[in-house]
Amino acid sequence: MTATAIYPGTFDPVTRGHIDICERALKMFDHVVIGVADSLAKQPFFDINERFDMLETVFAGNDRISIKPFSGLLIDVARESNANVIIRGLRAISDFEYEVQLAGMNRSLAPEIETVFLTAAQHYAFVSSSLVREIARLDGDVSEFLHPEILRRLTEKLKTVK
Ligand code: ADP
Repeated sequence: MTATAIYPGTFDPVTRGHIDICERALKMFDHVVIGVADSLAKQPFFDINERFDMLETVFAGNDRISIKPFSGLLIDVARESNANVIIRGLRAISDFEYEVQLAGMNRSLAPEIETVFLTAAQHYAFVSSSLVREIARLDGDVSEFLHPEILRRLTEKLKTVK
């Protein structure tokens, strides 16, 4: 039996904070499914195909990671993927309340699935996709927070909306 976890998120775009969390999850699980939520209510900057493609680029060649887009309930995609653990990342205290609420709801919907919280390296503890996008939009340097190919795609896409 292989231990599989699902790491869901919007990944708009994937940052080094997300990558750090995935690497930590791989120390505990044989396989990590990255669930890319369509998150339509959040009106993502990148569409789901772009976000999926960027994750594929970042994790290319890693056969212990698979990327799966989804639009329904997280617990449904977790069950489909045979994942009995949900990974979520915690940054500052501000993430805590929402994340605990989400974990509680998921537990009542799917009691057999546990949520595990991980924290990223100190250097990425304050990195969020939305801040990275905002700083890049204002021509700030975000290269230390993004894989080079993601930085290139963000820079390209920002040119089309400026
Ligand atoms: P969502 O829309 O589900 O919040 P995100 O892509 O913003 O999607 O985040 C996915 C998960 O990764 C969340 O649990 C979030 O807290 C976590 N995360 C994002 N960035 C970091 C980071 N720098 N350090 C730790 N966890 C992070």
